[in-house]
Amino acid sequence: MTLFHAASALLSNGWAHDVLVEADEGGTIRAVTPGMAPGEARRLRGAIIPGVPNLHSHAFQRAMAGLAERRSPPEARDAEGGEDSFWTWRQTMYRFVHRFTPEDAEAVAAQLYAECLEWGFTSIAEFHYLHHQPDGTPYAAPAEMALRHLEASRQAGIGLTMLPSLYRYGGIFGKEPVPGQRRFLNDLDGYWRIVEDIRAAIAGDSQAGLGLAPHSLRAVSPDMLAEVSRFEGPIHIHAAEQRREVAECQAATGARPVEWLLANMPLDERWCLIHSTHMTEEEATALARSGAVAGLCPTTEASLGDGIFGYPAYAKANGRFGFGTDSHVGTSPRDEMRQLETSQRLAHNTRSVVTDVERPHPGRNLLEAALQGGAQVSARAIGGIAPGLRCDLVELDHEHPALLGLHEDRLLDAWVFNGQGNPVRTVVVGGRVVVADGRHIFREDIAARFRAAMERLTA
Ligand SMILES: [Zn+2]
Repeated sequence: MTLFHAASALLSNGWAHDVLVEADEGGTIRAVTPGMAPGEARRLRGAIIPGVPNLHSHAFQRAMAGLAERRSPPEARDAEGGEDSFWTWRQTMYRFVHRFTPEDAEAVAAQLYAECLEWGFTSIAEFHYLHHQPDGTPYAAPAEMALRHLEASRQAGIGLTMLPSLYRYGGIFGKEPVPGQRRFLNDLDGYWRIVEDIRAAIAGDSQAGLGLAPHSLRAVSPDMLAEVSRFEGPIHIHAAEQRREVAECQAATGARPVEWLLANMPLDERWCLIHSTHMTEEEATALARSGAVAGLCPTTEASLGDGIFGYPAYAKANGRFGFGTDSHVGTSPRDEMRQLETSQRLAHNTRSVVTDVERPHPGRNLLEAALQGGAQVSARAIGGIAPGLRCDLVELDHEHPALLGLHEDRLLDAWVFNGQGNPVRTVVVGGRVVVADGRHIFREDIAARFRAAMERLTA
């Protein structure tokens, strides 16, 4: 039994004090008891919140963060409609992705996962499409690249939901792929083999889960999607990130991407629609009613100029959402939550958007949405501090300059909206301390391998 004592902890029914958290040898919480003395327990004197799930990652893109900002040359802009956008960024990504070896992918993922842990993410959903060798030939073990991400998650000590991505086409419903997409491509037989290899590799591992990820309506056929939709766990798909994607979908099918999915797929609690940026009010209401989760990636969406999520209509229908870091220009839950709220403020010329009369603190509301939405689509027992869930805890240092003098919901508001430093002091994943005094326990070793990989990748 591992024991933690929290001076103050956010439980499912609100803040509690002097909370004793007991985890078993496997890292699952067995008891949570407020009003207890610390005794032999490890003392956590700050504010304890549940570890935050990150619901959308392409780990390899961490190596590109900051490298794709300069203005594209005229020919590249002309080829993509005359502006720098998601589509010119994607051209840069296709050139870069060619270079990754399995060792590079593992080193970059481990660095990303250690960084995410230091900011308070304790699990990550890896939407993984970099399957094959640069010429498109599968590796001797077809799931090689996926298993490298699993290995990276084990090195860093973060929970992982592996989402092997099904990617067959290069544009909406049947357009042939371009050479830059070769490493991503599978038919259904090849895809199921990768899925089964991952399933075998994570069997019995309570730190790992499995979902499916048809990449987008650009990358699969309706028949493929129908087959994938029979899966009983989480199903993640990119949808409605870009206006051009919406226009292409309308031209090909007569429907917008979310509209098409609502009409043709059994959307329910299993589904996570990544981005869902461009929805009509009718789409937002229907998506909310389906029980699916909108997987928001606000810092990436801002970086790529995608657009602003239509929060008011979605919130009015009690839509569920969570946060991912996608391209990893940000790696913290704080930045994603703040970007959602501040984008809404800019769009609607108002403050305190993610609030209502009964729940006036946006920090608390954003965090609880992230916990519930992220847990729902992660296929793992996470998202709170309660018996039966993984013992994933984040200690926010109440003595950090950003949080001084604050408690409970006011402290959460300051964590999200006061950008000074990083007040995350301790991070526990599956009952094990992986961040102490604000530093990942293997930070130097992981960073050394990352530096070596970056030297190769940028040579
Ligand atoms: Zn993505």
